[in-house]
Amino acid sequence: MDAFVALGNAYATLPAHLAVAWGTAFFAAIYLLLCGGNWLLTQYLLPALGWGHRIDPRPLRPGQLRREIGWSSVSILVFGIGSVLVWWFLQRGWARLAQDAGPLRIAAEIAVLLVWNDIHFYANHRLLHTRPLRRYHQHHHQSQVTTPFATYSFHPLEAALLGNVILLPMLLHDFSFLALLSLPVASLLLNNLGHGNYDYAPRVGNDHWLAASRRHHLHHACYHGNYGFLFNFMDRWLGTRLPDDAADAQLRAYRRRQGSGAAVR
Ligand SMILES: [Zn+2]
Ligand SMILES: [Zn+2]
Repeated sequence: MDAFVALGNAYATLPAHLAVAWGTAFFAAIYLLLCGGNWLLTQYLLPALGWGHRIDPRPLRPGQLRREIGWSSVSILVFGIGSVLVWWFLQRGWARLAQDAGPLRIAAEIAVLLVWNDIHFYANHRLLHTRPLRRYHQHHHQSQVTTPFATYSFHPLEAALLGNVILLPMLLHDFSFLALLSLPVASLLLNNLGHGNYDYAPRVGNDHWLAASRRHHLHHACYHGNYGFLFNFMDRWLGTRLPDDAADAQLRAYRRRQGSGAAVR
């Protein structure tokens, strides 16, 4: 824990350009590690082990991976540049880092940040589906069948909206640096669940947090509804939860086309 306290204090005293450089390197590293890891997991390892299954059988669009990684690289830059606001809050004394947080407090801080992340994501995602902002959200929805690399595939405006998640909590509470660092890592890890196009836990019900990939698959397939992130409490409270069979007609039509194509061939 002490190492993270020292790391946070060192970060707060960096010159601004180094804070941006470290922020960008941090987001690039977790993207490569977690999204690349999830790609290997869902394309090779889990299928080889016979664990779980692919959700949407439709093929990716031409050039999809290249486009997702391209837009994600822009998002990483936006997150890296935006992280200077965290540094600036600390410099100005508008936010402070906890110096003596124990494991229980850090765990509680991470739990609170994860719930806040879902509320913040839901609110911004609903905004991005309104008429004035819809065009900025199209970049993400170009991936109708998602891949792990779509997790950061945003227009820069969307990246800026989603990337500011940490700022308000920092103004309200002195978080430990470890909890602050954990949020983007946990968020990306869990976002990978949502975009993996893979049913990691076929035995759990559709409302379970491990079924986030099924719910977010429906969002990409149907566009309207299921705006939540990892949990689905916001969708349930606000009546935007999609029925579990919302994409069945699309998938049936695709399978029929495949079947008739095979018959013709
Ligand atoms: Zn959307
Ligand atoms: Zn998505």
